[in-house]
Amino acid sequence: MRQIENFIAGEFVGAASGRRFDKRSPLDNRVIASISEAGRPEVDAAVAAARAALRGEWGGLATEQRVDLLYGVADGITRRFEDFVEAEMADTGQPSHVMRHVFIPRGAANFKVFADVIKNVPTEAFQMDTPDGRGALNYALRMPKGVIGVISPWNAPFLLMTWKVGPALACGNTVVVKPSEESPHTAALLGEVMNEVGIPKGVYNVVHGFGPDSAGEFLTRHAGVDAITFTGETRTGAAIMKAASDGMRDVSFELGGKNAGIVFADADFDAAVEGIFRSAFLNTGQVCLGTERVYVERPIFDRFVAALKLKAERVRFGRPESHDANYGPLISQEHQRKVLSYYAKAVEEGATVVTGGGVPDMPGELAEGAWVQPTIWTGLPESAAVVREEIFGPCCHIRPFDSEDEVVNLANDTDYGLSTTIWTTNLTRAHRVAARVEVGITWINSWFLRDLRTPFGGSKQSGIGREGGVHSLEFYTETRNVCVKL
Ligand code: NAD
Repeated sequence: MRQIENFIAGEFVGAASGRRFDKRSPLDNRVIASISEAGRPEVDAAVAAARAALRGEWGGLATEQRVDLLYGVADGITRRFEDFVEAEMADTGQPSHVMRHVFIPRGAANFKVFADVIKNVPTEAFQMDTPDGRGALNYALRMPKGVIGVISPWNAPFLLMTWKVGPALACGNTVVVKPSEESPHTAALLGEVMNEVGIPKGVYNVVHGFGPDSAGEFLTRHAGVDAITFTGETRTGAAIMKAASDGMRDVSFELGGKNAGIVFADADFDAAVEGIFRSAFLNTGQVCLGTERVYVERPIFDRFVAALKLKAERVRFGRPESHDANYGPLISQEHQRKVLSYYAKAVEEGATVVTGGGVPDMPGELAEGAWVQPTIWTGLPESAAVVREEIFGPCCHIRPFDSEDEVVNLANDTDYGLSTTIWTTNLTRAHRVAARVEVGITWINSWFLRDLRTPFGGSKQSGIGREGGVHSLEFYTETRNVCVKL
């Protein structure tokens, strides 16, 4: 069993209180790690270390030197690729191919991409006239915002944490990260890499613990934190926003979703089935951009439901390293209980269960894991809880539609606005519908295809602000104007 400590000023340290909590494997519910729970003293120390680093060596580096160090972090992650894969698999139980091809490489890329952005981004300048005819010159300086509090979730822990840490450091800030209590491993491992590649002490700090009355709340309420970037549930975002209002700290929020997939009858049928299958079921449905509401044009509805059912029934549950398995569990028994409560609610609300709806039979010790079947429902009204609320599990409701106006209204009838995926070969219609769906991210004939330079974020209750490429600079830097009278 691993012992995981907080990472403060370049050192792994326990909590003064001696408090620890367990991390259990989602595969079989075994305890796999004991983690030190940061209290107020550790959060204070981490924020102080981050402030000291800003005022010290890190704050004095030229952009070029900082960029080189961040390239070093990306290389350091790649050198320890297997360790990261193994750590993330231990926390999430997801198949190794997802770790190897998406989550861990993207984590390394998050440092490279934002190092490139900061190296190449211009600042603006305005020449102005003055009554004496000599004029004045205005130019902008981009300054780091200071100490950034990073609060991250468990569903793609390393990718989502580095998506914030990469740009924060590229812009010259320092960070205190509070990873999810369900996924502490890779944040700790990144501390080792930071030391290995020579990132000055205090630039990257990690405090472990929970949300309310624990490290998460202590960090977001801390007066020494200049801005907070958060990915997680909308409800948690609301609590953090209240905390951030003390001291007028800026926030960037990537929150929940109840995303719609829209399939027109003229779509490339096989590609659409595969695309919706991935968007509903990848990572056992624990993807914020995932599709829990599917709308299919009536002429292909029955055929589509049958094809998706077939694919959902072919997943092979098992351990991440097993060659026979391609499907993992949910993150925890607690989350399993939540998802299964929605499975029961769907039936109470009158759903037709096309497939799934329960727990697969798992052999031996795996029977204790957080497994659930991929589940498809039809026949519910739009008012049903499973059609309105984010479940964050491998499930979707499919409903037929008859016109473009109807499907746009259905897709928009939600408090959320994160993403959508549209499938059609009529590109004029695709562009038209993309402009009408009220979300931050639209995919046409694809899903989860990410260019890290593009704006990423949610509308409505799915988020505040945009990150990605130069958009991240809006949050991680403070722009100052300098006016020079000539
Ligand atoms: P969560 O909100 O429960 O927890 C996220 C983090 O916040 C954890 O580290 C947790 O300890 C911390 N936290 C909880 N309460 C807190 C408080 N009061 N103060 C400070 N910190 C607190 O979310 P989760 O269950 O870990 O993740 C799943 C959610 O994240 C889903 O809603 C999903 O849609 C969302 N998500 C969104 C995006 C996006 O980009 N929009 C990406 C991934 C996940």
